[in-house]
Amino acid sequence: MKYETIRRDLVRFGRRIADKDLVVGAGGNISARSRDVMLIKASGVAFEEAKPEDYIPVSIATGELLEKGRRPSSELPMHLACYRTREDVRAVVHTHSPYATGVASAGVTLRPIFPDFVAVIDSEVPTLPFVTPCGEELAEAVCSVIGKANAALLSNHGVVAVGENLKEAFYRAFIIEEAARALVAGTVLGKVRFLSDEEAARIRGLEKVQYRMNVLKKRK
Ligand SMILES: [Zn+2]
Repeated sequence: MKYETIRRDLVRFGRRIADKDLVVGAGGNISARSRDVMLIKASGVAFEEAKPEDYIPVSIATGELLEKGRRPSSELPMHLACYRTREDVRAVVHTHSPYATGVASAGVTLRPIFPDFVAVIDSEVPTLPFVTPCGEELAEAVCSVIGKANAALLSNHGVVAVGENLKEAFYRAFIIEEAARALVAGTVLGKVRFLSDEEAARIRGLEKVQYRMNVLKKRK
């Protein structure tokens, strides 16, 4: 896929992340893969203001910046780790969404609370303890779980979600925030009942759910 097309998608989903209040200001970052290169948001740029040229190319193998003059997002090592760990990952979305951050910081593991959580995320969502952002330590922590998980909660920080395209990674990050909101709302009123493993397995097995997820993977 051409850089131009990927950059257009990055701008579009960056704006949706801002519209959904999943970040504030220049917080959060996204990237998408084009063969052995990823395009990642430049440092200090807010999603709502980002233009196509604010998504800059970086070599996945070496981490080398392929267009001089701009600095990539401070979470570059975490994005590189996701692409290097999984060949199938073509997009990474990192948000600072408030409910998910709160749930993670309370040490709670987010479990399936509604069917779309099961269908869209399609893996467990581990909660990682706090590590200093912007460096190899966070990249290593994410790398340790992202081989088996499509998303993770970062205590006192936010969410990271991966996908076969930007739309899938975005929906995973957004559904995590919705699940965290539902968990908080349910906890205010009483004890939350999560979906059991058997219920989750039945949801995964539904032909209608599989069809819907295949459409999501194919469409950008
Ligand atoms: Zn962050």
